Amino acid sequence: MAHWQCIQNCGACCQLDPADRPDLEQYLAPPDLAHYLSLVGDDGWCIHFDRDRRRCQIYVDRPWFCRVQADSFGALYGITPEELNDFAIDCCQQQIKGVHGADSPEMAAFQAAVAP
Ligand code: SF4
Ligand code: SF4
Repeated sequence: MAHWQCIQNCGACCQLDPADRPDLEQYLAPPDLAHYLSLVGDDGWCIHFDRDRRRCQIYVDRPWFCRVQADSFGALYGITPEELNDFAIDCCQQQIKGVHGADSPEMAAFQAAVAP
């Protein structure tokens, strides 16, 4: 069984451009949507993302909707804790494909990291 994990030097999920996430209103209540939109920089990347080091600069204090864990993903997507692992893997694959490309080093690194 594949096991989800975040990899270093990725950051694909910190590309927040709403144009690439047309269903945001379905996942986020108005105050959280406003918070999300307040994070979007001119280039679509989160204002807290260090693009050179590919790291969140507020990791410990990052918003709840940035956290890949059962309670936040349950609230966002209505999934059960048992579904979190596979769902999170799918989310990362989609985001990495969109941001870095399906044949990117980041995708290869992610696939290797989660492989059974
Ligand atoms: S897309 Fe997935 S692997 Fe990449 S930084 Fe986000 S959580 Fe980590
Ligand atoms: S707050 Fe941090 S984890 Fe959330 S999108 Fe911004 S850089 Fe990424």
